[in-house]
Amino acid sequence: NGFNDYKVSEDIVKALHSLNYKIPTEVQAKVIPIALEKKDLVVKSQTGSGKTASFGIPICEMVEWGENKPQALILTPTRELAAQVKEDITNIGRFKRINATALYGKQPFDRQKLELKQKTHVVVGTPGRVLDHIQKGTLPLGKLRYLIIDEADEMLNMGFIDQVEAIINELPTNRVTMLFSATLPKDIESLCQKYMKAPIEIEI
Ligand code: AMP
Repeated sequence: NGFNDYKVSEDIVKALHSLNYKIPTEVQAKVIPIALEKKDLVVKSQTGSGKTASFGIPICEMVEWGENKPQALILTPTRELAAQVKEDITNIGRFKRINATALYGKQPFDRQKLELKQKTHVVVGTPGRVLDHIQKGTLPLGKLRYLIIDEADEMLNMGFIDQVEAIINELPTNRVTMLFSATLPKDIESLCQKYMKAPIEIEI
């Protein structure tokens, strides 16, 4: 198994085996070792490259199972992507019993609020609904250590970048930030400059 070379625990390797992921994709080979060192990352890569697991594997590895409050926040431009990423995280974290919660619009706020009261390690959501939960005090941020901004250029295209920035401003500064984008327009570059600590740039 090509994933044995990484410093990931048996629970994660077992899950990758059950997903039939045998060989890391290029983006996974480049991102996973650096992410496991808790360094900020800017990754230029397309969808379909296996990028979800490139952050999903290190996130599932790094979160502490015993902590009840959310430790990782993954922002996505669409509800569909949020649901997909939540499913991928759940699959990768299956044997570590990682709980992921999806937060997006057109779904009852109160049910999400109840879910956030349960143990959840990873929150995946679209910017509007995530900000809504933050402003209503239903998404605890005190234990947040990992932020992933997925498809950042799409967020920009869809007009979500101000909401993304408002969310970042509420997060603990002692965190790791990873940004994924197919393209790196100026507004995304400046977001990286403003909110990331000496990010390592990876281009696939
Ligand atoms: P993504 O770019 O994250 O949307 O992933 C694209 C597809 O590749 C998804 O269906 C994944 O389940 C699959 N995939 C991701 N990593 C691997 C891997 N290492 N081996 C085989 N399939 C993978």
